[in-house]
Amino acid sequence: MVNEQSKRKSGQLVVPGDRLGVIEEFTPGQGTYEEGGTIFSLTTGRALMDLLNKKVSVYPKAQVSAVPHVGSVVIGQVLEVQNKQATIRIFEVDGRSISGVFSGLLHISDVTQRYVESMYEVCKAGDIVRAKVISDKNRVLHLTTNDKDLGVVYGFCSRCGQSLAQKRFIMRCPECGNTERRKTASDYDKGEI
Ligand SMILES: [Zn+2]
Repeated sequence: MVNEQSKRKSGQLVVPGDRLGVIEEFTPGQGTYEEGGTIFSLTTGRALMDLLNKKVSVYPKAQVSAVPHVGSVVIGQVLEVQNKQATIRIFEVDGRSISGVFSGLLHISDVTQRYVESMYEVCKAGDIVRAKVISDKNRVLHLTTNDKDLGVVYGFCSRCGQSLAQKRFIMRCPECGNTERRKTASDYDKGEI
């Protein structure tokens, strides 16, 4: 009976104070609280009863709908750079923060109109970039920075970690004097992200 009830509720909209289950059944997860052995929703959102791990969570409604799709402008942090592509962890979509993990791929051919020899001239791990989703084929988000408003918005010195200052086409570290290259957005180091 208890399981029947849980299944019925999973994925459904709940409001703060809604009863989700008891601690004998579930571990209280994100967006829930426990009182006297009963688990309640802390927020308005969708309940997720993870029957495998016996955990109940509530994902806020606003965050559920902020999912990147083709045409979305996203902000993310560069996780890894290889010669021909960079992996970016997305944390904002169309001006709204998202929960959950989304990563996108920026391929060297989508960086800019001119020829780029290596991704290491475009961004480095730890940089913050603004990009646009151009494809979600096979559930992989492909990104582009081919626009003056897109590219690195905050870049960090790969030698000492300070934020780099931009002077024309050169990125210079005010701390250690190191110079680097980036494909920057037009509001580099000025914009609010
Ligand atoms: Zn430096």
